[in-house]
Amino acid sequence: MARIFAHAVRPALLAASRADGLRRLVERSPVTRSVVRRFVPGTTVHDAMDVVAALRHSGRYISIDYLGENVTDAEDAAATTRAYLELLDALGQRTRTDTVRDGVRPLEVSLKLSALGQALDRDGQKVALDNARTICEQAQRVGVWVTVDAEDHTATDSTLSISGDLRVDFPWLGTVLQAYLRRTRADCQELAAVGARVRLCKGAYEEPASVAYRDDAEITGSYLSCLRVLMAGPGYPMVASHDPQILAATPDIADECRRSTTDFEYQMLYGIRDDEQRRLARTGNQMRVYVPFGTQWYGYFMRRLAERPANLAFFARALAHRGR
Ligand SMILES: Cc1cc2nc3c(=O)[nH]c(=O)nc-3n(C[C@H](O)[C@H](O)[C@H](O)COP(=O)(O)OP(=O)(O)OC[C@H]3O[C@@H](n4cnc5c(N)ncnc54)[C@H](O)[C@@H]3O)c2cc1C
Repeated sequence: MARIFAHAVRPALLAASRADGLRRLVERSPVTRSVVRRFVPGTTVHDAMDVVAALRHSGRYISIDYLGENVTDAEDAAATTRAYLELLDALGQRTRTDTVRDGVRPLEVSLKLSALGQALDRDGQKVALDNARTICEQAQRVGVWVTVDAEDHTATDSTLSISGDLRVDFPWLGTVLQAYLRRTRADCQELAAVGARVRLCKGAYEEPASVAYRDDAEITGSYLSCLRVLMAGPGYPMVASHDPQILAATPDIADECRRSTTDFEYQMLYGIRDDEQRRLARTGNQMRVYVPFGTQWYGYFMRRLAERPANLAFFARALAHRGR
């Protein structure tokens, strides 16, 4: 069953996550919208701020993603940038009263460079860099961190180059590395050496074996090996995973590298393993929740379905229930 899911269902869902016609159909369906709420708590800044209040109340930190990816027009990229500025204004109202411990900012936004124009035919890299810089300047003013998400492997070089340029002026900028990519251990060594803030995740896209490990055990092995590199360096590692094997190994790796619980953080996605998130926060760890919001939830939602048979079963059950 697990093999069928990994080799047939997951690739089909990830291919579907990029199909525009299907996206339009699914996004318009009232049935899916109610199910999507488990992973995407709302569509407006107001919805996002409600979730921020609840998560902060339970001692968790937050990274907010304004959903959208692969824009093909400069005006859409500019609209995404404006949406982030509006979000940062709202977050700025909270940072005035929120406590910052050990220099770790409780609030962060996550950006996808493809939503800021990276893939535009004309000057995509420059447009995305300029838009991301505008967002970072505002984030700096209001005391919020920014992390640049990782997308599919064809964008990795461009994304790391843009992140590197931004880190010159914003040394607190976070970069995401995906442990399933064969190149990532070397990228970890490079970013650890410059003391960067790095979110390490397994990776959520369908990638060929020429560039990525495809076997679950190999991906977990790569993750732990990359995490050791990050923990051993002077930067700030962000352990983004729900995997019990990774979560169990992390405290020992941190200990070996003489890091205390304030020298790194755990990260999980909104709606996934909420009890474990609360437990980690309650027991003195830094726990950040990635909260996506907005109307363009299709790609994000399909990647969550592709991650785990139980997520797909939850969706199927909800559809059957609503269909009765
Ligand atoms: C904060 C954050 C940011 C991310 N940013 C990016 C990004 O920028 N780019 C990118 O490509 N990917 C990103 N991802 C997604 C990531 O790459 C993985 O696709 C996703 O996290 C699933 O990998 P996993 O490590 O959680 O383990 P998985 O292999 O999905 O799960 C391993 C095990 O975890 C347990 N588990 C998982 N889900 C549940 C659940 N709902 N309930 C109970 N147990 C569960 C199960 O035991 C499962 O077998 C991000 C993930 C997080 C948490």
